[in-house]
Formats: sequence, structure tokens, C-alpha cells
Amino acid sequence: MHFFSADRTATGAAVRSIRPAPCSRSVVESLRAHAGTRVPFSVEFNPPRDAAGEARLWRAVRQFERMHPAFVSMTYGAGGSTKDRTARITRQLAQQTTLLPVAHLTAVGHGLAELRALVGSYADCGIRNILVLRGDPPGDPLGEWRKHPDGVTYAEELVRIVRDLGDFNVGVASFPEGHHRSPDLATDTAFLAAKLRAGADYSITQMFFDIEHYLRLRDRVAAHDPIEGAKPIIPELMPITSLRTVQRAVELSGRAVPAPVLDRLRKAAGDGPEENREAVRAAGIEIATEMAQRLIAEGAPCLHFITLNFAKATSEVLTNLGYEVTAAPLSA
Ligand SMILES: Cc1cc2nc3c(=O)[nH]c(=O)nc-3n(C[C@H](O)[C@H](O)[C@H](O)COP(=O)(O)OP(=O)(O)OC[C@H]3O[C@@H](n4cnc5c(N)ncnc54)[C@H](O)[C@@H]3O)c2cc1C
Repeated sequence: MHFFSADRTATGAAVRSIRPAPCSRSVVESLRAHAGTRVPFSVEFNPPRDAAGEARLWRAVRQFERMHPAFVSMTYGAGGSTKDRTARITRQLAQQTTLLPVAHLTAVGHGLAELRALVGSYADCGIRNILVLRGDPPGDPLGEWRKHPDGVTYAEELVRIVRDLGDFNVGVASFPEGHHRSPDLATDTAFLAAKLRAGADYSITQMFFDIEHYLRLRDRVAAHDPIEGAKPIIPELMPITSLRTVQRAVELSGRAVPAPVLDRLRKAAGDGPEENREAVRAAGIEIATEMAQRLIAEGAPCLHFITLNFAKATSEVLTNLGYEVTAAPLSA
């Protein structure tokens, strides 16, 4: 159950606050708890499209449970049935697993009442961690952004709303190469700092393949605002397992994969009519391992893996890093 009570926002307006179940740990607490022996890792799942996809997701969930990630996040799609399935599975992650779930929340297609109800439904099952995002226009991430008539325009506003609702631990998105709609990196940094100042506790980056972009982002935020710059910036990695997933990486990040990375993968693919999938996969795992090693050396607070709902590739990277992972059978 969550509890409503009369409360006041930073602007003095009365709101009904939602108290998440007190037992759930925050992401920041979990990072601290996991940091003793190794750099923590976390994983991202996506809403499955159908029953077969859901079965695959649950196999990955059970496999990751044995590897003890600091948290798992579930992305949010605004489309009709996917939306309902996402919310249901996110709640099940809290109720039926030992994992710490982070619910992605986007402003796309939602008025404030609906957003508050969704946050309330998460609080009801003990979910305290929310990754607050504006989201992209459905169907075309680069298309024109249209605010819902009763919604918000920027993630910063939604951060304030979620924080006003109760004791939520809030994460936001950060962009090592700048968000594609930001006019320049300085403005992009100022917007990220504003989201953190509004109450976000950490950020997770967009996926990248050049560590320098991550390091420069960290330096920019620290120089812009040393207090906000001290909050964790969690790098997102995607182990590439085929040339098809390169395309997926470009779609997800809106950024080209750097030429040296692409060259390594293409060389592994070979000149034949069919790509040498085994060699591409091995190269992809090697690239992700090298990136993770450098990020650990540079003091990253956590390694966040895009899994596409498979456990095997992430587990191979973790094994290469010397992490103890399960001996149970893994899916691709
Ligand atoms: C880790 C991660 C997870 C993600 N998960 C999802 C997901 O689950 N579902 C989904 O649909 N999308 C997801 N996305 C994609 C994300 O929703 C898009 O990248 C979106 O375009 C930007 O979201 P945001 O929260 O950064 O928006 P905002 O911070 O609101 O920024 C949006 C744009 O507005 C600009 N801006 C911000 N504040 C202001 C201001 N005050 N005045 C003027 N301009 C401003 C920014 O520079 C940016 O160009 C994710 C992205 C990341 C990095």
C-alpha cells in the first residue's frame, strides 16, 4: 500500500504525496553497498513485444539474479499494450524477484494525473527508484516533440513532480556527446545540472563507444556545478553481438558508432556473403570488456549494460573483468 498525505511542493502548491514502501533501497544506497569489493554493475531490460519475448526476458532476469547487479532498469515505451505490459513487468520485478528495479518514466503521451497514478502504482509495490525522462516522439525519435496538453515539456519538471510525490530516488539521462536537440555541449551540461539540482540523485548516460566522451561529460558537469557534479554519472555500455546490433546501437543512441570500432567489427565479419557471427560477437565482447576496464580505471561508479533481454553477452564481459558470475546455463 502507499499512503497519501497533504503536502507542499517547493512552490507551495498542495499535493498529495505518495510514500513508497520504506523497505526498498535507493540506487545510490545500493551502489554504496555493492562498491566494497568491485565496481558495481547494473542492467537494462526492454519491454517484450509478445509472450515469447516475455519468457526470454524472465530467463534473463533469473540468470541476472544470480549475478547480483546493484539494480536493474526497465525502459518505458509509450505505445498502448507495451505500456501496460511494461508497468506490469516492472511491478513483478519488485514483487517476484530479489532484484532492485528502477522504473523508467517518460512524459510522452501522459498528462500529470496519469503520471502521478503510474508513480503511485510503482510505490504500491515498493518501487522507490524512478529514472525520469522526457521520452521521444513515438515512432520517430528525431521527430517533432509535442507536449501532452496536461503534461510537461522537460524532464526537469517531471523530476520535481516525482520528488514532490514522496521519498523517491530519482535518476535522469545524461549525454556524453550532448543530446541531439541541444544547441551545444555547454547548454546541454547546464540542462543536466538543472535536472540534478531539481532533485535527481544520479544520471545514466546514453550508450557510447568512445570513453573520452564520458570523461569529458564528467569534467564538464563538475566544472559547471561542483555539487551536482559529485553525483554519480553511470556509463551505459552495450556489448555488440552482431552487425545487426550495431544498427540497433545507432537507433538507440542517435549517434554513429566510431570508425575504429566499426572497422574492428567489420574485419571480424569478414568478406564472405554471410557475416562471421562468432567472430563479430567475440570482437563485440572484447570491445565492451576493454571499455569496462578503462571505465573502472577511471573511477566509474557503476557499469550499466544494455542487455536486449539476454544475459550471456553481459555475463561474458563480467567474467573477462574477473567478476564471479553464475555457472548456470545462459541464454544468448
Ligand atoms: C539512460 C537512458 C534511458 C532512456 N530510457 C528511455 C525510455 O525508457 N523510454 C524512452 O522513451 N526514452 C528513453 N530514453 C531516451 C530519452 O527519453 C530521449 O533521449 C529524450 O529525447 C531526452 O530525454 P531527457 O529526459 O534527457 O529530456 P530533457 O532533459 O527534457 O531534454 C530534452 C531536450 O530539451 C532540452 N532541454 C532540457 N531542459 C531544457 C530547458 N529548461 N529549456 C530548453 N531546453 C531544454 C535538452 O537539451 C534536450 O535537447 C533514455 C535515454 C537514456 C540516456
